[in-house]
Amino acid sequence: MINQQIIAYFSMEIGIDTNLSTYSGGLGVLAGDTIRSAADLAIPMVAVSLLYRKGYFYQKLDSEGNQREEPFEWTPEDYLEEMPVRVTVQLANSTVSIRAWKYEVKGIGGFTVPVYFLDTDLDENSQDDRQITNHLYGGDDAYRLRQEAVLGIGGIKMLRALGYNDVFRYHMNEGHASLLIFELLVEEANNQGRALVTPEDIETVRQKCVFTTHTPVPAGHDKFPKSLALDVLGNHPVFNLESEIFIEDTLNMTYLALRMSNYINGVAKKHGEVSRLMFAQYDIDSITNGVHVPTWTSEPFQKLYDTYIPGWRGDNLSLRYALKVPRNEIWNAHSDAKRELLRYVNKKTNAGMEQDVFTIGFARRATPYKRASLLFTDIERIKRIAEQTGRFQIIYAGKAHPRDEGGKELIREIFRIKELLKNNIKIVYLENYDIDLGKLLTSGVDIWLNTPQPPLEASGTSGMKAALNGVPSLSVLDGWWIEGHIEGVTGWSIGKEQQEDTQVQVDDGIKDAKDLYDKLEYVILPLYYRQRDRYIDVMQHSIALNGSFFNTKRMVLQYLLKAYHKGMVQF
Ligand SMILES: *Cc1c(COP(=O)(O)O)cnc(C)c1O
Repeated sequence: MINQQIIAYFSMEIGIDTNLSTYSGGLGVLAGDTIRSAADLAIPMVAVSLLYRKGYFYQKLDSEGNQREEPFEWTPEDYLEEMPVRVTVQLANSTVSIRAWKYEVKGIGGFTVPVYFLDTDLDENSQDDRQITNHLYGGDDAYRLRQEAVLGIGGIKMLRALGYNDVFRYHMNEGHASLLIFELLVEEANNQGRALVTPEDIETVRQKCVFTTHTPVPAGHDKFPKSLALDVLGNHPVFNLESEIFIEDTLNMTYLALRMSNYINGVAKKHGEVSRLMFAQYDIDSITNGVHVPTWTSEPFQKLYDTYIPGWRGDNLSLRYALKVPRNEIWNAHSDAKRELLRYVNKKTNAGMEQDVFTIGFARRATPYKRASLLFTDIERIKRIAEQTGRFQIIYAGKAHPRDEGGKELIREIFRIKELLKNNIKIVYLENYDIDLGKLLTSGVDIWLNTPQPPLEASGTSGMKAALNGVPSLSVLDGWWIEGHIEGVTGWSIGKEQQEDTQVQVDDGIKDAKDLYDKLEYVILPLYYRQRDRYIDVMQHSIALNGSFFNTKRMVLQYLLKAYHKGMVQF
């Protein structure tokens, strides 16, 4: 029975609850949704991540859009159960003691998947080592490498201490977890009665590992100079396999995972193609991301689906019947979700946003390639469209990484434009984008805007959340939208799909901006204001065609068949 073999899922971040500051963005939210669907499907899984006592950060924005990062204050004890066991990881200069905190994710049928958050804040550790698990994506390279040692090496040791001795597959959700391979190699050598790791051990371990790569952006791929690796990790037993571990005197976490995995995938079809070009010598498949349907469906749509599509929480495919739900019911559910969002927005910002005005949503990590200000490429034109074609209002959110100056400048730019256009278009930028706000936004706006520079968006998932709530996307053809887009049926495109050439175009965005304006002026606003039934048809098709497919239930089943049981079933 394929269902009895345990999958150990490792991720640097897991976003499972808005109150747990254990995630930063898409990668963590995907991990959380994956675990939720594994629990729904009663797939025996155990997940491992780090605790992050100070979180990623809590974002504050001043009146000019300057971002201030505050530590996220929370009490793990309020949400998590401390495990009594301790394990240690040997680093060059210290022995780090680790404990685990458990969070149980319960599936719709009651099956649970435990998530263990590792924590080094223990009395027996040095002051320095106690901080290792404090900050997500903070600190320098040495800090990151110590974190990855705790996650990978410490994670495997913790699983053993908790009784997980017979794990079927180890799934590395991004290269941050690659050091788990070091520990598996040492274990394998020890099992064979050797102290030294050999190339045969690599083959044995490789059979058990699965790797998912998540981004074509180079900064998303961790690499450490060999000298730093030796400084931090000391004389680790796998270093005798020098040429298998270091490439050009670098410990490259992506290459390590690629080299040591039996199944590798990108997170959308296009991202699979891009990854095959980036890492030509590896066999890279793709499994398109999804979102957890019950989690991301707003209350009003939950009620609607309960009435018209009973069983939809477990049977996500049945969302196809959204086509049979009366239009006015779809509209009413959407209006309720929108009212709730606008109530929040108006309370937080005093913007006076209006229920009957077309509302555009944009929430992304604030970083230049996401092009948050593309919509304002031609200020005169955007003003004219609002005046002559139909009014609209825009809601922004998103954090910039503390060291991403370009991203921070982008937030300030949106604030300046907001001032400039204050008599024409209402614009708000909401603070501290998190899971709760993500749900409110993706379900409450009238359209979900996405403007990344192709081909840098591996998948994206927020547009999938929107689709579940009948909110169509207006997006550049990149990531999942290449698969989810049918023009005028599930939403609208901006620009054309970039063909074969996967180099980033040095595109000033003028062409894309023009296309965006044309779509708004000639297609979308006229439909919204003057052919409401046709607009609702698009809403319905985004649920029926995209909600039914771009979910983690379908995604996890694909991982089960294509990745975890590779070669055992044809799929
Ligand atoms: C869904 C989500 C993301 C990822 O969405 P993208 O489409 O990849 O931008 C990021 N942050 C939060 C809080 C989310 O809910």
